Amino acid sequence: MGHVTLVVDPASGESFRDVPGASVGEVDAVISRAAAAFEAWRAVAPGDRARMLRRFAAVVDAHLDELATLEVRNSGHTIGNARWEAGNVRDVLDYYAGAPERLTGRQIPVPGGLDVTFHEPLGVVGVIVPWNFPMPIAAWGFVPALAAGNTVVLKPAELTPLTALRLAELAREAGLPDDVFTVVPGEGAVVGERFVSHPAVRKICFTGSTEVGTRIMAGCATQVKRLTLELGGKSANIVFADADLECAAATAPGAVFDNAGQDCCARSRILVQRPVYDRFLELLEPAVRAVRVEDPARDTAEMGPLISAGQRDRVAAYVAGSSTRVAFTGSCPDGPGFWHAPTVLLAGSPADRHWREEIFGPVVSVLPFDDEADAIRLANDTEYGLSGSIWTRDVGRALRLARAVDAGNLSVNSHSSVRYWTPFGGMKRSGLGRELGPDALHAFTDVKNLFIATEE
Ligand code: NAD
Repeated sequence: MGHVTLVVDPASGESFRDVPGASVGEVDAVISRAAAAFEAWRAVAPGDRARMLRRFAAVVDAHLDELATLEVRNSGHTIGNARWEAGNVRDVLDYYAGAPERLTGRQIPVPGGLDVTFHEPLGVVGVIVPWNFPMPIAAWGFVPALAAGNTVVLKPAELTPLTALRLAELAREAGLPDDVFTVVPGEGAVVGERFVSHPAVRKICFTGSTEVGTRIMAGCATQVKRLTLELGGKSANIVFADADLECAAATAPGAVFDNAGQDCCARSRILVQRPVYDRFLELLEPAVRAVRVEDPARDTAEMGPLISAGQRDRVAAYVAGSSTRVAFTGSCPDGPGFWHAPTVLLAGSPADRHWREEIFGPVVSVLPFDDEADAIRLANDTEYGLSGSIWTRDVGRALRLARAVDAGNLSVNSHSSVRYWTPFGGMKRSGLGRELGPDALHAFTDVKNLFIATEE
C-alpha cells in the first residue's frame, strides 16, 4: 500500500476520512486488468455502449445531491457550484452517449479500389486530475475515452479523491463491466508517474500545473504516448471604454473569484481602457464587497475557502509584499478553515509578479491600457493562453480582438469558457489538444486507413 492521505474539510480544517494511496505494484495490477478488459469493451456494440453511458448518466443524476454534498465537504466548493459540477458529469455522459453510434470514418476516392478509415480506440487511457474541479475534469477525460471504446484508469488529486471514488462505484451500479473504469487514488509521484511510464497505458489525459504537465510530456515522449494537457492560465478580462461598464464590473468578480479563484480560466488580469479606469474601479468595489464568502454548505454562499492551508498561504504571500497596492478587498470568515478574502490589486506595470504569475486564489490585478493595440499586446504578454473576455459594444473591435488574443477560449460580453458542447483547451503553455465538444472522441482514437483492391 502507498501513502495514506487524510482528507480534510477546507471549511473547518478538520480531517474526516483517510484514503490509502495505491503502491506501484497495485497500479500495475489495475492497469493489467484494464488492459485485459479492453478487448471486450471495444467489441461492445455501439448502441449497447451508448445505453450503458446513458444509464450511468441516470445513476449520477439520481445521486446528484449526495455527490454535491461530498464535494462541499472534501473541496470546500459552494453547494450551488457542487450541484452544477455533479450535473455537468451527468450532462457530459449524456452528450457522449450519443457518440459511439456516430463515430464514423470516411470513404475516400482512390484509384483501383475502395479506401475507408476507422477510428480505433487506443487501449488503456490514464486520466490524471487536479484538485480544483474534481468531478467535471475527471468526466471530461473518462467519458469520451469510454465512449470511444477505451478502458480508463483515473487518478484523482491527493486532496480530493472522494467524488471520483464514488463515481467509480456508480459506474458499476449502472452496469459498466469490471475494470472498464477504475479510480486509483494515490500520489502523483507514484500513481501518476506509473500511468506515464507503463507501456500498456496508451494515452495520458492530464489536467494540472504547467510544471507537472511539462514533465509528463517528456515522460510520454519516450513511448510516443498520446497526450492531452490542460494546464495553467492567467487570463485577461479586457474592458473597453464603450462597454456596458455596469455589467462588466458586476460580472468581473464572479469571473475570477468563482471557486475561490482556483480556476484555470479565472480572469485574473483585468485590463481597463484608461478613460473609464477610475469609473470601472468605482463600480467594481461594491461588487467585490458584496461577494458572499461563507460556509460553502449554505445555499447563499458565493465563495468558500481555499483547498488547503498551504494554498491559502501561497495566495496570501502575493498580497503581503510591501510594494503591493491593494485597491480594496471583500470579506471572509475568521477562525478555522482556509479562508482568504476576495482581493483587488493595482498593477504598477506588467512586470509585477501578481500580474504575471498564476495565483490560483481570489486575487485579481487591474491595469489600464490606451488603445486596441495596447490591449492586445498586454493580453498576449504572458506564457499562458487559456481563456479571456472582451467587453465592448463595437462588433468589429470584438472580432478583431477575438482573433488577435492568443487564447483557446474567448467570450465577448460574457465570461463563459467551459461548455461541454464546445472545444476547450489552451494555447501556448496552457496546454495541448482540446477536450469536450463534438470532436473530443477523435483524441481518444487513432485513425486506421484501409485500402481494398477491386482490380482483378
Ligand atoms: P498538479 O500539477 O500539482 O497536480 C495535478 C495532478 O497531477 C494531481 O493528481 C497530482 O497528484 C498529479 N501529479 C503530480 N505530480 C505528478 C507526476 N510527477 N506525474 C504524474 N502525475 C503527477 O496541479 P494541482 O495543484 O492539483 O492543480 C492546479 C493546477 O491545475 C493549476 O496550475 C491550474 O491552472 C491547473 N488546471 C488547469 C485546468 C485546465 O483545464 N487547463 C483546469 C484545472 C486546473
